Amino acid sequence: MTIHEKKFNTMVIHGGYDSKDHLGSLSTPLYQTSTFTFETAEQGEKRFAGEESGYIYSRLGNPTVRALEERIALLEGGEAGLAFASGMAAASAILFALTKANDHIICSQGIYGCTFGLLNIMKEKYNIQTDFSHLETEQEIKALIKPETRCIYIETPINPTMKLIDLELVSKVAKVHNIPVVVDNTFCSPYLQQPLQKGCDIVIHSATKYIGGHGDVVAGLVVGKKDFISEVAMTTQKDIGGIMAPFDAWLLLRGLKTLPVRLDRHSSNAWNIFQKLKEHPKVANIYYPGDPDHKDYHIMKKQMKQGGGLISFEVKGSKRDAQQMLNALSFINIAVSLGDAETLIQHPATMTHAVVPEESRLKMGITDQLIRLSVGLEDWEDIWADLNQALESI
Ligand SMILES: *Cc1c(COP(=O)(O)O)cnc(C)c1O
Repeated sequence: MTIHEKKFNTMVIHGGYDSKDHLGSLSTPLYQTSTFTFETAEQGEKRFAGEESGYIYSRLGNPTVRALEERIALLEGGEAGLAFASGMAAASAILFALTKANDHIICSQGIYGCTFGLLNIMKEKYNIQTDFSHLETEQEIKALIKPETRCIYIETPINPTMKLIDLELVSKVAKVHNIPVVVDNTFCSPYLQQPLQKGCDIVIHSATKYIGGHGDVVAGLVVGKKDFISEVAMTTQKDIGGIMAPFDAWLLLRGLKTLPVRLDRHSSNAWNIFQKLKEHPKVANIYYPGDPDHKDYHIMKKQMKQGGGLISFEVKGSKRDAQQMLNALSFINIAVSLGDAETLIQHPATMTHAVVPEESRLKMGITDQLIRLSVGLEDWEDIWADLNQALESI
């Protein structure tokens, strides 16, 4: 039985690595090297010509990073993986690989703040226009497609409003027009959602979040078809240079081993916290994909294993009240990022989405009262006690 046939919990630990190739080392060795020596000049020539496989220079490939790339490809059920210095290095390499000047992108209405910033740069510098849409129906998607549309770029659940997009629906429409669908799968990780299995073409992760899981690394990952991944590796990755450091790959291989165990706990903690928040008199609205009353609950049932660890909610009152609630917390940390062992809380309007102009921000549903909570791995009763006393203070 090869590793490709094993199940998820086995692959997060063994996928892409065989200790026999590394002197029996149980843990993937850290190849902390910038370059690789050739035995002869002719060998160097063959490696550069692609006639002999082997390593050359760590911007073009490194064994520790390669093990991670193979593992993430197995976990997403894709052909090949590629590792980047950050989630944004991954997103920019993919978007620049897919487009040229004057092209067109369709994007979910609601997107990570810096991805919004990137799309803006592409518009200003290269006249690459983006249409934002809820992508709720076939007609809505079809109506946006132009001859110069080069990709549909989506997040689901959408950060931070937790709206969901039906991956099967979008990929079905896109396929007819031969347009690749790119999914930012950061909020779910491959344990909760596998977009390639729903017909999408490219998956992007900020591995900084659930994949790393310990708040100690900034990194990005991509999975897609072999030919496309090779093209990106040899162009917008190699020549722009946003590669992953070997030590970061080592940390991520370590973090991945506990991904399913952590996400089960993140999800069950979040479910308990969600039920408490939903009933709280100071909470006006709450958004959690695992909420049976969530308008997209049927989509969550179709494409997600569980509700995940993120909850957004609006407090009753003003921006001041939202900030007051954050200030009143005792052990819960005010910080952006998510998916760490520690519970983290942030105010999207003034933090992660501060770069988005107010009008677009409100269209995305990011009001001044909205708070995003990344539920950690602590005892949920302690998390709730802290949230409750902070809510009571406003
Ligand atoms: C954090 C994040 C990113 C950006 O990733 P970095 O690793 O910080 O560059 C992109 N998309 C989503 C949904 C994120 O949460």
